[in-house]
Amino acid sequence: MSHSTEDIKARVDDLFPGIRKDLEDLVRIESVSADPERLSEVEKSAEKTRDLFAAEGFDVEIVRAFDGAPPAVVGEKKGPEGAPTVLLYAHHDVQPENDHADWNTPPYEPTEVGDRLYGRGAADDKAGIAAHIGAVRALASLDENGDLPVTVRLFIEGEEEVASATLPELLGKYQDKLRADVIVIADSGNWDIGVPALTTSLRGLIRVDVELRTLGHAVHSGMWGGLAPDAIMALVRLLNTLWDENGAPAVEGLVSGPAADVDYPEERLRAESGAIAGLEWVGKGSAVERMWTQPAITITGLDAPKVDGASNTLAPSARAKVTIRIAPGDSGENAVAALQKHLEKHVPWGAELTTKVVDTGEPIALDATGPAYDAARAAFTEAWDGTAPIDMGVGGSIPFIAEFLDAFPQASVLVTGVEDPDTRAHGANEGLHLAEFRRVVVAEALLLQKLGSR
Ligand SMILES: [Zn+2]
Repeated sequence: MSHSTEDIKARVDDLFPGIRKDLEDLVRIESVSADPERLSEVEKSAEKTRDLFAAEGFDVEIVRAFDGAPPAVVGEKKGPEGAPTVLLYAHHDVQPENDHADWNTPPYEPTEVGDRLYGRGAADDKAGIAAHIGAVRALASLDENGDLPVTVRLFIEGEEEVASATLPELLGKYQDKLRADVIVIADSGNWDIGVPALTTSLRGLIRVDVELRTLGHAVHSGMWGGLAPDAIMALVRLLNTLWDENGAPAVEGLVSGPAADVDYPEERLRAESGAIAGLEWVGKGSAVERMWTQPAITITGLDAPKVDGASNTLAPSARAKVTIRIAPGDSGENAVAALQKHLEKHVPWGAELTTKVVDTGEPIALDATGPAYDAARAAFTEAWDGTAPIDMGVGGSIPFIAEFLDAFPQASVLVTGVEDPDTRAHGANEGLHLAEFRRVVVAEALLLQKLGSR
C-alpha cells in the first residue's frame, strides 16, 4: 500500500518534534573521533544510535573491525518478501568543535536561532542519522503492521571524520549484513535552500612534497648572490610553471571533463568564498567546471626561512606541498606521473629535485542513471514541491564512497544529505536548516516507498 505524498508530509510534520529530539540527544554527545579523551563519547553515540534504531524495530548491533576499533552500528529491518534491500549510511562521529569562543551558541547544546538548529554535528552528520530515523518512523507509522516497504539495512560509521581507517575491513567483514541493491549515503548536501541535489561527482586529490636543493649549505647572499641560484628562487620559478597565465593548471596529462549545466550565481560565489572586493577568478570554463570537473593545483604549504629574523643568506633547500584536486576520469597514479614529468622538465638551473607522494584519493563519477536515480529524482521533486534536484559535483573528496563502490559494485549509490551553502560543517556555528531537514526526511520516506513499489 502506497501512501500519498500529502500523507507522508503530514506524518513527518506530526513526528517532527520527536525526530528533532532524537537529533538533539545525539548532538549532546561529544563524539569527537579525533580526540583520544572523548573516545568514550564516541561509544556513547554508537549506543544511542543503536538504541534509537532498536526502538524502530531494527535488529541492530555495534560492530568493529577488531577489538578497540571505532564502533559502527549495523542493523536491519526486513521488508516484504522480494522487496529490494536499501542500505542507509551516515556517521555518528563529529569534527572537533575547536575554540568555543568562535561559537555563538554552546557547541554541544543544540540551540535554535532563526531558521536553524546550531550545534556540532547538528548537520554533519547526526542529521543524516536523524533523517534515516525519521523516514523509517514515518513509513512504519503509516503502515497498519508497522512494516517498511523495503528491507532497510543500516551502516552508521564512527570514524568518518578520521578518514575511515577501518571501513574497508568492516565492509568486508559484514558484507552479508550490508549488501544492498541501493545505498543511500546521507553525508553531502543540497544545492541551495529550496533546491535539492544529488551529488554525482567528486574530485580526488594527490598531495606531493616537492623539494629543491641548489647548495650543500647556506652561503652569504652578498658574496654569492648573482651567481649561485638559491633554492627559493629555483622553487618559485618551478612552481610558477604549474599554472598558465590565467591561473589554470598547466601540467600536461591531467584530465578535465564537462560539468552539469549549472549556473552558480556570481553573488553566491563571492559571498561563500569570502573573496575580497575586485578579486578575479582563475582558470577557464564555467565556475562549476573549474570547481568540480577540472583539476586545480594549490600550494598548501611552503618551507623556507621565516621572514622575521631572516639572515642574508642563499637558502640551500626549500620545500612545497603541491596539492592537486583531480577531476573525475583521472586517477591518482596518472596525476602523480604527470606532475613528476612536469617538474622534471621544468626544474631550473640543474637544481636537485626530490618528490614524495604524501597521499592520493581517487575521483568519483557516479552512474546517475537507472531506476534508483529515477525514484530519487521523483521523490526529491515531490518533497521540494515541484523543484527537481540538480546533479551536483563536489570539489572535495568523500573517500569512503569509493570503498562502497568497491565493496558493492552492483549497487546503485545515491549521495544525499542535509547540508546547504551555509551549514558550516567542520567550522564554528555549524547549523541545520530545519525546514530543509524536514524536506530531506520526506524525500527519503518517499524514496523508500518508491523503491518498494518497483
Ligand atoms: Zn560527514
